[in-house]
Amino acid sequence: MKNRYHNAAYQYSAHNLRQLQDAGGFEVAFAGRSNAGKSSAINAITGSNSLARTSKTPGRTQQIIFFDLGQGRRLVDLPGYGFAKVAHSMRGHWHETLPRFLAGRRQLQGLIVLMDSRHPAKPQDTQLVEWCVELGLPVHILLTKSDKLSRSAGLQALREIRAGLPGEVTLQLFSAHARQGLDEARGKLDEWFAWPGDG
Ligand code: GDP
Repeated sequence: MKNRYHNAAYQYSAHNLRQLQDAGGFEVAFAGRSNAGKSSAINAITGSNSLARTSKTPGRTQQIIFFDLGQGRRLVDLPGYGFAKVAHSMRGHWHETLPRFLAGRRQLQGLIVLMDSRHPAKPQDTQLVEWCVELGLPVHILLTKSDKLSRSAGLQALREIRAGLPGEVTLQLFSAHARQGLDEARGKLDEWFAWPGDG
């Protein structure tokens, strides 16, 4: 499979919605609880060690970060949510910035939601998926750190979470460390980005 994501390059960070650049084109955003493995997933998918900074202090980075893929396509790294120590300052982000971004960002083709496969579908995860479904925004869930689960436990997690989701939401097991599910995740991005020449 052609990997369109290896040339991803940091473009800019927005601290609030006013700082967003209104370029045309197509974007796919990544969101998840702090520590769910979002940075590791972005790095694995783009084949980079350091494009998205894995943070030792969960919840510290609250910017919306854009990575340019070329041909008017971009990946968007949304701030992690749900980390208790920054719960207060994140409240504005969670209740205002995030839903407004999802509803107002016309470039957005879909949202990748990262959930730790051992602790999935927390209330904020479920709320996020519901917002997207109401907006008609496609959602694909990566159940991360699947290397921590046995094969059968992974399949069971898939089945259980699938059962609680709206039918249009897709999901898969993913491990940045074991490099599991990379092609499947890139395939979903390819589908949403509709790269020129992909027919
Ligand atoms: P983020 O806060 O969502 O960006 O999460 P990070 O990517 O920074 O990862 C949070 C923690 O989970 C780090 O300690 C990572 O090493 C660990 N982690 C991320 N991906 C994996 C994975 O695929 N397998 C395992 N076992 N640990 C992972």
